[in-house]
Amino acid sequence: MGTKTKDEFTPKAEQMALMPEISGNSINGLGEEGVRRPRPIYWHDPEILPHGEMQKWFYTQNPDDPYINKARAERQKYLDRAIPEVTGDAVDRTAEKWTEALLTFSKTVDLDLIGVTEMKPDWVFEGYEISQKWVVMIGVAHDYDEIKYAPEGRGGAEVVRQYARGTNASKDIAEWFRLQGHDAHPHGGPMAGPMILIPPALECGFGELGKHGSIINRTYGSSFRLACVLTDVPLVPTASDFLGVDDFCKNCQVCSNHCPPDAILHEKQTVRGAEKWYVDFDKCLPFFNEHFGCGACIAVCPWSRPGTAPKLIEKLARRRADK
Ligand code: SF4
Ligand code: SF4
Repeated sequence: MGTKTKDEFTPKAEQMALMPEISGNSINGLGEEGVRRPRPIYWHDPEILPHGEMQKWFYTQNPDDPYINKARAERQKYLDRAIPEVTGDAVDRTAEKWTEALLTFSKTVDLDLIGVTEMKPDWVFEGYEISQKWVVMIGVAHDYDEIKYAPEGRGGAEVVRQYARGTNASKDIAEWFRLQGHDAHPHGGPMAGPMILIPPALECGFGELGKHGSIINRTYGSSFRLACVLTDVPLVPTASDFLGVDDFCKNCQVCSNHCPPDAILHEKQTVRGAEKWYVDFDKCLPFFNEHFGCGACIAVCPWSRPGTAPKLIEKLARRRADK
């Protein structure tokens, strides 16, 4: 497991020389009261990003790490996988029947979470357009025995593996729609698609936002990654989920105490008109870039330990009932 502490980390000068003048927190809309669309910040074409040189630098680091190199090589086959164009007559079903069929099909796909939500324009990055009305969200859980090594290469490789699984699952589902005569577009990591994924994942029932800025789920805790499929096939949204995470995060400091560059803020912040937990992008990024994409906050979150999340949910429910 990673052993870096806050006191040990000083970013490399060669990386900090690439840091743009504009703060990533400004790009993200920290402190902005008005609602606006998000701006691309990372994992897009580096040529359009103020932090694009840092994104390129990330890929120059640790070129000989065996875990990362193996995981990236395996991921490439999923990134390269082509899926068929829309084929045949369009199958006609009600939204209820489509959703039922989708959830049944998803049981044959290598994924761990699935949900449906209606697209909101506020989720689309500035400079991108989305015409589809529905978002099928996908979650793929980390293997705890691998992610627990974050921020070492072995933990980073597990993140790469799960992005590969998410990409493959999104292609399976998009292909399933297309072979029934309906268009659908898969989006998996590592590169960002045209929209942010955390808000639709919250909306469709994957869980609640934790202090570390990632979602906490009732089964997998913080330990999973996201992908999605966009389509116009009529669907029924799945319900959001209440766990009571806020009550827990207010009193827990495991991730913020562990984060080597001290990037996790203790209080919720206003970000593009919404109050939410927030991670200081400018502090997180240099460590992230030098440590395989880090992920230590996810690995140390108590909810991530297998079998723990359901017990914590019960405990929180008991506490609310006793009040
Ligand atoms: S990913 Fe960022 S916020 Fe999380 S522990 Fe690492 S440096 Fe801190
Ligand atoms: S480590 Fe604690 S404070 Fe951080 S997200 Fe997990 S439960 Fe919340």
